[in-house]
Amino acid sequence: MHDCIFCKIIDGDIPSAKIYEDEHVYAFMDIMPLTKGHTLIIPKNHKENVYDLSSEEAGQLFSVAPKIANVLKETFHPAGMNLLQNNGAPAGQSVFHFHMHFIPRYDQTDGLKLTWNTK
Ligand code: 5GP
Ligand code: ZN
Repeated sequence: MHDCIFCKIIDGDIPSAKIYEDEHVYAFMDIMPLTKGHTLIIPKNHKENVYDLSSEEAGQLFSVAPKIANVLKETFHPAGMNLLQNNGAPAGQSVFHFHMHFIPRYDQTDGLKLTWNTK
């Protein structure tokens, strides 16, 4: 049985706070936000992770990334933003329907340690 929480969100069976929707993609607020405005973008077609995406689907997702980032920027006024995407449990994937995180950052005050720059 196909039992995917993000497919249920797309179908409206589970409520979500929508940020953006078009024919191919859906974006909504993360239920456990790492920072204010933490948002996820997903393909409407169920694809487990980056290995399963077609180039066309990847393009559909990434082509709306600037729009979503700008909506978050104008709404929450962050100082920066991380786009993050996990594939496989060892990489931190916990929902196995492809999603990219948009994580607004608020200077050093957001308490989030999410950087590869140790300086
Ligand atoms: P991952 O760890 O797979 O990269 O990220 C999964 C994300 O999905 C987590 O940040 C988690 O908070 C979010 N999430 C899990 N279940 C739900 C849900 O039912 N609704 C929403 N809006 N977000 C969810
Ligand atoms: Zn799904």
